[in-house]
Amino acid sequence: MSDAIGRREFLQSVAIVAAASRAGAQTTPPGEWGTSVLDIHLHPRATVEGNVLHLDGAGVTKAVLLTGANAEDRAKQSIAAHPGRFVRFASVDMTLPDAIDRLRMAAKGGAIGFGEIKSQVAAAGPEMQRLYALAAELNLPITIHFQEVSQPGSPGTFNTGLKKFDAMLKAYPKTTFIGHADAFWANVSADYAEDTSYPKGPIKPGGVTDRFLGDYANLFADMSANSGNNFLNRDPEFAAGFLVRHQNKLMFGSDCPCPDGRGGTSGRCVARATLTMLKKLAPPEVFRKIVWENATRLLKM
Ligand SMILES: [Zn+2]
Ligand SMILES: [Zn+2]
Repeated sequence: MSDAIGRREFLQSVAIVAAASRAGAQTTPPGEWGTSVLDIHLHPRATVEGNVLHLDGAGVTKAVLLTGANAEDRAKQSIAAHPGRFVRFASVDMTLPDAIDRLRMAAKGGAIGFGEIKSQVAAAGPEMQRLYALAAELNLPITIHFQEVSQPGSPGTFNTGLKKFDAMLKAYPKTTFIGHADAFWANVSADYAEDTSYPKGPIKPGGVTDRFLGDYANLFADMSANSGNNFLNRDPEFAAGFLVRHQNKLMFGSDCPCPDGRGGTSGRCVARATLTMLKKLAPPEVFRKIVWENATRLLKM
């Protein structure tokens, strides 16, 4: 690449950043969604301003930064630089021998939850059960990435065994669990065969995710990523009933990789796509609960 092109691209990206910041300043709260919005699932960008850019661009008021326990400084910088806009969770690979010590230290240092926990273990295995006990002891929620099928963007399987997770919900009643990722959302349908990440078509009622949310007070749901968005879109009529049924348990999140909260060059921002769908499917008071009230209550913000 020539210097001229590099410089032109740099100037273009500066212009995009500046334009998005100006637009964002006009749209934060209550802004274009008609209410304050909390994103419960944002992974930190390379810079503090990159984090703010995604919030402002998508019309989001506040976000939970999900940060590895060894990269907490960046999250701390965002919180310090923009008071009231960020809080943070901490995560580690639960197969590490000192995982629990690291998480305990992160909580001491200001993390208000654990996650996202994405480890190549069984969700009912000993590594995870140690975490469930710690979370109950410290009274902090855990966001868990449930994935049964390997995919190019996320190779491997993680926290497997959602269909039998009721055993954990029962065994750890004082632990607050927040479910997330493809297996969690695919399992709203009773016919999920763990053979694909984003099943399409009508939902068969009676899936474990729907049942567990109804049966266990300690289970909540993070609606982020393509998995949450796919659930909303595959069977909108079913989804509308689900949103009302679990209106006190569901929390908006993005897990969006786009740079500016407007979809960048691809034009697709997961935050915007999911907020648009939620607004379309849920009555206004339910929408407000899902995008703001449930998470701020759970996180005592
Ligand atoms: Zn995830
Ligand atoms: Zn985005």
